[in-house]
Amino acid sequence: MKNLLTKIFGTKHDREVKRLMPLALEVKPHSAALEKLSEEELKAKTDEFRKRLAEDEPLDDLLPEAFAVVKETCRRHVGQSWNVAGIQTEWNMVHFDCQLLGGIVLHEGKISEMATGEGKTLVATLSTYLNALTGKGVHVVTVNDYLALRDSEWMGQIYKYLGLTVGVIQNQMTNAERREMYMCDVTFGTANEFGFDYLRDNMAQRAEDRVQRNYHYAIIDEVDSILIDEARTPLIISGVVEDSKVHDRYREMRPTVSELARRQMSLINEMMTKAEQLAESQQADNEFELGTLLLAVSRGAPKNKRLLKLLKETGMQKLKTEVESAYMRDKKLHEIDDRLYYYMDEREHAIALTDLGNAQLPKSEQVLFEIPDLSTLLSEIDGDTTLSDQERQKKTEGVYSLHAERSEKVHAISQLLRAFTLYEKDVEYVLEDGKVMIVDEFTGRILPGRRYSDGLHQAIEAKEGVRIEAESQTLATITLQNYFRMYEKLAGMTGTAETEAGEFWDIYKLDVVVIPTNVPVIRDDFDDEIYRTRREKYNAIIEELVKKNKEGQPVLVGTVSVDVSETLSRMLKRTGINHNVLNAKQHQHEAAIVASAGQPGAVTIATNMAGRGTDIKLGPGVVEKGGLHIVGTERHEARRIDRQLRGRAGRQGDPGSSKFFLSIEDDLMRLFGGERLGSILDRLGVKEGEVIAHPMVTKAIERAQKKVELQNFAIRKHTLEYDDVMNVQRKWIYERRLAALDRPSIKDEVTELINSVLDGLIDQHCPEKEYPENWNLTLLSEELRTVYLFDLRLKVEEVPALTRESLREKIHGAVSSFYNQKEAAYGADIMRQLERYAVLSTIDRHWRDHLSEIEELRTGIGLRAYHGQIGKPIDIYKREAFEMFEKMLQTIDREIVNLVYKLQLKVPEQMRAQQRTPAMVASHQEATNLGYGAAGGAPPPPAGPTGEGEPNPMAAASQAGTRAATVRHAVPKVPPNAPCPCGSGKKYKKCHGARG
Ligand code: ADP
Ligand code: MG
Repeated sequence: MKNLLTKIFGTKHDREVKRLMPLALEVKPHSAALEKLSEEELKAKTDEFRKRLAEDEPLDDLLPEAFAVVKETCRRHVGQSWNVAGIQTEWNMVHFDCQLLGGIVLHEGKISEMATGEGKTLVATLSTYLNALTGKGVHVVTVNDYLALRDSEWMGQIYKYLGLTVGVIQNQMTNAERREMYMCDVTFGTANEFGFDYLRDNMAQRAEDRVQRNYHYAIIDEVDSILIDEARTPLIISGVVEDSKVHDRYREMRPTVSELARRQMSLINEMMTKAEQLAESQQADNEFELGTLLLAVSRGAPKNKRLLKLLKETGMQKLKTEVESAYMRDKKLHEIDDRLYYYMDEREHAIALTDLGNAQLPKSEQVLFEIPDLSTLLSEIDGDTTLSDQERQKKTEGVYSLHAERSEKVHAISQLLRAFTLYEKDVEYVLEDGKVMIVDEFTGRILPGRRYSDGLHQAIEAKEGVRIEAESQTLATITLQNYFRMYEKLAGMTGTAETEAGEFWDIYKLDVVVIPTNVPVIRDDFDDEIYRTRREKYNAIIEELVKKNKEGQPVLVGTVSVDVSETLSRMLKRTGINHNVLNAKQHQHEAAIVASAGQPGAVTIATNMAGRGTDIKLGPGVVEKGGLHIVGTERHEARRIDRQLRGRAGRQGDPGSSKFFLSIEDDLMRLFGGERLGSILDRLGVKEGEVIAHPMVTKAIERAQKKVELQNFAIRKHTLEYDDVMNVQRKWIYERRLAALDRPSIKDEVTELINSVLDGLIDQHCPEKEYPENWNLTLLSEELRTVYLFDLRLKVEEVPALTRESLREKIHGAVSSFYNQKEAAYGADIMRQLERYAVLSTIDRHWRDHLSEIEELRTGIGLRAYHGQIGKPIDIYKREAFEMFEKMLQTIDREIVNLVYKLQLKVPEQMRAQQRTPAMVASHQEATNLGYGAAGGAPPPPAGPTGEGEPNPMAAASQAGTRAATVRHAVPKVPPNAPCPCGSGKKYKKCHGARG
């Protein structure tokens, strides 16, 4: 220990280490005592610790003893071997002192920075064992499935010896297997698996389908890779939410709609010709007719070019508006529409066929538009006492399927009408390789991979006669940041955290503590060699590889992308040198190759992620040759990644060296400092073809990297800022959902809803301060029929005598007795299932839609800011996202009530089948190229929410028309002390809940 103390003396982290030292020293005496114990006695320690914890002894107090127990267990295993990911492996590790320090840091919930090869896998056993004693589960997070398996088997033996259970999550596992793994004291797995399991758990339809239990303590290995690189993109689960019949529907309806559009077009052209003549004549008594024509055309073809041109002339817009107001005042707008085949109301985002249009349809399709009024039909069936139960059920199902079919067809027709009327090829979209691609209306750029929502994209595909593609929708999403912030305690380890300490603290409240290496690092890090062009650089690299290979020294070449790896490999082939190329796709296979990268004469070319976490041991005679030599082919966006690459050499006091080869054409140079570098080279008098290695240049590059690091941090922070708003909402929805899933009965909640939604309706239509004559009883009865399937039959003479109370009692009584009847008929069991189904399916459906609306909002905000709207985008976003959320909660309440009234006996298998979302896809953009994204040469993404959003104003519009009107009742049900869903961080009662 003394030795260690002097070794670290002078580093800026020595204060931290000094603080930890006494605690690490406390382990020693325990170790000595434990050596004398029998196997049984050592094993009994686990139960003893558990008992002491149960008796309220603090976990921290157990640390020295528990660490000593783990260390002693390791000591006793030295020389034994067991199977680790298919390889018989001999155990040879007993914790070094600095590994004890690392263990303390992990237990404290911090990041322990320890160089590559320092044995972090072993370090984690200390705090994992200690924290697993609580029985609440410890998650150890690795960068890939292979490492999860390897570490669970490698370290697993130690835990099992001490009586802990060990699990590992692998990608292909079933739910049942996963659940078992999560029940273990220690669970290994990747960040993606943990995150996706969380999302899937919150989509489960039955409590028993959930797999995770809690978020107690997580240790993240290679923490920078996961919390920084991987955290650039969120985890997304998406699914195809429609069946293939939908496609047929668009194709089937296309000819009809195309014909309608053609006729409307010629009608519009006639109208425009007339209008243009009238405008030309400039006669006052023609004005009204002109205005009427303008109005008609704008309702029939709002984007008509001739119309837009004419409207630009003085007075035209005004005339149109005046005429429109006149028609509206007289409630005669329909007279305008009746001249058309179909019309659209931009304000209401509605589009509809007129009688004229309907008459154009084949007889078989005309009937389509007679969409049955569900509630009336259903209450008719319910009230028909002549029906047997069976007949009633059959009739009910008939009504539902008729309704569904017709509404879907009508929806398809309106989307096709939109496609034909409002979306023009090469303006709103282009066709490329048989695909419909959206054009960004502001920038004119094509937005690859984006689709209009709600069937509009399919409609355009049908219109263009190209393949109609399935629509997939985001079903659930979370950023890794927000997933890991759920843990009570979080810790991490990596060789490279220091440069990102600011971000770790800002985002995760994670401190970074740098632990000194066990043996001093003697690696030689050479100055960079800088060339003018990429070509020259590659040639120099090949020369270096040939030279080292001749000398028998192994070389590991790190690249930023698969492309560069392949280029170098091609060039190397010409020299006849044997080499391996890895690209981070087959983890286990690559681990084996990387592990042998230290053998004499080995040449290994790898992208950065390839083989991460695999130890590179030096082969025989390599020490004498100077150890492993690292060649960097480009500087990375972050200094951290460069350090990571260099760190592959010189582990545990091994000799080693590293050198980066750069060129002014490299992306980083070009983007951040190329000019300055060029002039430095000029000043230093560097000629074409010459190489330069100069500390001044290295400094300049470092400055450029710092700039990129900051910019990337800003982008991640920005993404997170936006996700934070969603996070509050997500937690809120998930909690409500979980309550519905977990409790044996949610009748109380549903009853609550039945009453509060009802009171909301009464408040809205029969306000306290109004006389009964002024109540809107018509609307009230209509809503009661829709939501509660209840017919409020009031005689005219009854009305004056009504009081709010008597009305309320009358309705409440009827509505609840209907519910009780239903329960009596179906039985309590079925009713409970039905209630649960109503709550879950309603929440899920709305949440899903909310996710896409929020995404549109997020993109739209960026555009609005771009168009100079006042206010900070994030503030507008927060406000509007909250309003949308609040509205959604109200709609959810109302629909749950409606569903429990409406649902017929079809439970439960069938319901679940309807719920199941086929072909769910979990996706998380990989961070394999730690450079500039997949293309290798693309610039870093622009800051701002538009980075990956979907500017899709029409999609929001097209949905707005179909959304049911919402009932306002004062406030959504947020518990007063819960955080306000607006994301302000304040309690609900102090924020949006305060306004009563
Ligand atoms: P890291 O994750 O820190 O890069 P690993 O956990 O992969 O390092 O360990 C690298 C290698 O270091 C191990 O395979 C083992 O050979 C060696 N090692 C680590 N700790 C010890 C120890 N206490 N005693 C002996 N060898 C150790
Ligand atoms: Mg490791």
